[in-house]
Amino acid sequence: MRALLSTHGSSGDVAMTEHAVVIAGAGPTGLMLAGELALAGVVVTIVERRAGQDLAGARAGGLHSRTIEVLDQRGIADRFLSEGQVAQVAAYLPGMPLDISDFPTRHNYGLGLWQNHIERILAGWVHELGVPIRYGSEVTGFAQDDTGVDVELSDGQSLRAQYLVGCDGGRSLVRKAAGIEFPGWDPTTSALLAEVEMTEEPELGIRRTPSGMHALGKVEYEIKDGEVVYKPGGTVGVMLTESHVGTSEPTLRDLSEGLIAVYGTDYGIHSPTLITRFTDMTRQAAAYRDRRVLLAGDAAHVHSPVGGQGLNTGVQDAVNLGWKLAQVVHRTAPESLLDTYHAERHPVAARVLRNTMAQVALMRADDRIEALRDTVSELLSMDEPRKRFAAMMSGLDIHYDLGGGHPLLGRRVPDLDLVTANVRLRVFTLLHTARPVLLNLGEPGGFDIAPWADRVQLIDAEYAGPWELPAIGTVTAPTGVLVRPDGHVAWVGDQTQVGLVDALTAWFGLPTAA
Ligand SMILES: Cc1cc2nc3c(=O)[nH]c(=O)nc-3n(C[C@H](O)[C@H](O)[C@H](O)COP(=O)(O)OP(=O)(O)OC[C@H]3O[C@@H](n4cnc5c(N)ncnc54)[C@H](O)[C@@H]3O)c2cc1C
Repeated sequence: MRALLSTHGSSGDVAMTEHAVVIAGAGPTGLMLAGELALAGVVVTIVERRAGQDLAGARAGGLHSRTIEVLDQRGIADRFLSEGQVAQVAAYLPGMPLDISDFPTRHNYGLGLWQNHIERILAGWVHELGVPIRYGSEVTGFAQDDTGVDVELSDGQSLRAQYLVGCDGGRSLVRKAAGIEFPGWDPTTSALLAEVEMTEEPELGIRRTPSGMHALGKVEYEIKDGEVVYKPGGTVGVMLTESHVGTSEPTLRDLSEGLIAVYGTDYGIHSPTLITRFTDMTRQAAAYRDRRVLLAGDAAHVHSPVGGQGLNTGVQDAVNLGWKLAQVVHRTAPESLLDTYHAERHPVAARVLRNTMAQVALMRADDRIEALRDTVSELLSMDEPRKRFAAMMSGLDIHYDLGGGHPLLGRRVPDLDLVTANVRLRVFTLLHTARPVLLNLGEPGGFDIAPWADRVQLIDAEYAGPWELPAIGTVTAPTGVLVRPDGHVAWVGDQTQVGLVDALTAWFGLPTAA
């Protein structure tokens, strides 16, 4: 069912086009979700307010390890790796990256790559998958009924969809129009963020003053031997913590005064391409779903950018939601499967909110906080806390509560090198098509999942090496593993097949009659 179903006149004389899913917003979350749905054969359209994919300013600075893994699961990680700078970026305290080079993952690092490039690469992938993006068009409202959603657009058109997903950022219209509460905490601090030219060479790096932490860096950089290397000249990125939470539209003059207050000079700033402000406002949608309307990414959670987790969390929301929504659209799974999206992803973002609030508190300029920062820094230099916090910041420790049992259950499957009858194969390669896979690591032919054969790949394979999980260590080698399209383990077999049929039914729908 790849073709669009076009109808006219079903809402007065407004042209109405029917889709399975409409996504509001072509930011990283909306693009990733569109790719996931398209891979699963769902007719999806993105509506994006911007005129094109260009982004004002650089915003997010890169990807954490688990997001690179997620992209690797779809066979597109190299597109990002080839353009970015690999580095140790999982930091809990700014300026103190936690080394994950000993973690059991192929991507034991993060990637420095600005959000405009991340979006461009994702948009290219989505384009290859044939997803239309309606740039320059805004979702202005919607009305949902038992069978679908009428999505109103700023150009007067209306789209009819089975589901609407709000990936429309922190000020999400979709969230507000759905009446979904957004409880949390008002900002306690704000910072000016700018990209400017300077006539003098600035003092690059982090500086602390009684008003807080400030940073100057170049937009263009390279990483050599683990160190950031800037070229002379070029656009400077400025981050200045304000003495009070700012509310008015920031200007070049505000920036100049802020620089003089902190550095004693404004370095001759001119030609800004971006002057904006971010805060530590921390809020999370009370529900990620209201019937046929769902939220993902910043639309569902906002927090301080410290630790660089926002974009990563949004992309991973999309990968959790995509295959579930696809199955519900295809009617192979009941609508209740969508409730697992909130159940799994709400706690993940709640944890991000908590750790960003703690990090913001640790950045305050105060002698006692300074003492606390030193204490945390000492703690994080110890091996076990370093592993735990680095696994959290890099997203590698995400664990969905799928019940007790084997430690693999609910966690990401490691990207092991398997040996099958014909070829050597990586686990992630099996996930490129976003279809679930049952790995039989015991007796070949030991599983019969014929009633799910149209939905689940069955692979007989051997793997003789250790099974290691980040921050957990070696776990017992299983004889069978059911892996969901998002790379999380839905069932673990240990010589028996107890629970397999239940897991297949719960995640991939009722068996097909023979
Ligand atoms: C200074 C700064 C640094 C950051 N650093 C990092 C980092 O290092 N790592 C990290 O992971 N995250 C970081 N973040 C956070 C990251 O930028 C966001 O979390 C990320 O952009 C969220 O993606 P999204 O797709 O959910 O939302 P957005 O990127 O906000 O995308 C929403 C899209 O929806 C569109 N839109 C809005 N309303 C409508 C509408 N009604 N109809 C149609 N379209 C609409 C918008 O134009 C936009 O394109 C940073 C943020 C800031 C501000």
